[in-house]
Amino acid sequence: MSFENFNLHPSIVAGVRALGYTTPTPIQVQSIPPIMQGRDIIGLAQTGTGKTAAFVLPVLQHLLQLPRGRIGAAIISPTRELAEQTCEAIDELGKKTGLRSIAVYGGVGMDQQIRRLRSGVEIVVACPGRLLDHLWKGTINLSNLEVLVIDEADRMFDMGFLPDIKNILKCLIKPRQTLLFSATMPNDIRRLVQDTLHNPVTVQIGRSAPAATVSHALYPVKQHLKTALLIELLHRHETESVLVFTRTKHRAEKVAQQLKKARFRATSLHGNLTQGRRQAALDDFRTGSVKILVATDIAARGIDVLSISHVINYDMPESTDAYTHRIGRTGRVDKKGDALTFVTSADSALVQDIEHILKATIERRTLKGFDYAVAAPVKLYA
Ligand code: AMP
Repeated sequence: MSFENFNLHPSIVAGVRALGYTTPTPIQVQSIPPIMQGRDIIGLAQTGTGKTAAFVLPVLQHLLQLPRGRIGAAIISPTRELAEQTCEAIDELGKKTGLRSIAVYGGVGMDQQIRRLRSGVEIVVACPGRLLDHLWKGTINLSNLEVLVIDEADRMFDMGFLPDIKNILKCLIKPRQTLLFSATMPNDIRRLVQDTLHNPVTVQIGRSAPAATVSHALYPVKQHLKTALLIELLHRHETESVLVFTRTKHRAEKVAQQLKKARFRATSLHGNLTQGRRQAALDDFRTGSVKILVATDIAARGIDVLSISHVINYDMPESTDAYTHRIGRTGRVDKKGDALTFVTSADSALVQDIEHILKATIERRTLKGFDYAVAAPVKLYA
């Protein structure tokens, strides 16, 4: 199977080649033909499977046949980072098509977005809240919309965006085609599908389990020794680029500062940073000038850096799905990745659940020579 089989327009095939894709991934093989036939799709696929291109390529193909300067496709994304990255994928894959896209999200002024929307774009990639703002203000025109993509629907549901999505759907004259992608299918998303999609084709790539190219290990450790263990591991492991997950924004900031003090090229990514600083952190990580990014789950959504060699869970994620999402950042399309997770005694139930979806026991490791016996600092109360 090759990209030529899809009968994509030569200008799109040129974009695929420029990105160096040679063979379509399974989700692309299964979704591109029905999407090109105009079918609605439920894509059950985790990140790292190539799902973005699975919808971007047929969307580009569709829009090539439409008049320019009108929004023909809208993609709803849970986070600004994912919106930016999807936009980048569209720009890269569609470079030779002349189709224009814009990412629309909150936390930045509306004026510039309005100017770009007025200047004429064909694709909008938007976070739900800001898209609603534009719809209610009348600063976006979706009356010519032909394709609606709801990306990472389960994550949007986790983040409480479902009411916004329903409101957006109410504002739309029924789009011709709706594509919904989700790593899992909780009941609320199932209902949304029933109400919104018309006779959809379901495409499922694996179960909601992490990619097979990732190797997993657990490091049992006491909470107060996590930073020391992290520093020791980073010293001893050959790492290309490392994504460290913490449970809170405060901890992401603190751990990044501690790594910097230990002379690692590290930075943080979390919701307390301005949009400018978040973008700078992502850019530095992508270009390799920063090797270690310490992030919270929500901030790290959609991080798409092909060479992430290690994901380190400084804190255990909150659910097996969150584990899958985190781990999806490494081991992308045929690349090998390592997922190292620090566990305390409080995490044992979740460890069991993760082992259940992996259908394997995860190796427990202790770091030779590391002093696990250091006592916790005594807290002094005034
Ligand atoms: P996604 O699941 O959309 O986040 O894609 C994961 C990564 O795989 C991205 O970096 C894509 O650029 C890359 N990718 C997507 N399709 C292919 C393909 N057919 N061959 C190689 N890499 C791909």
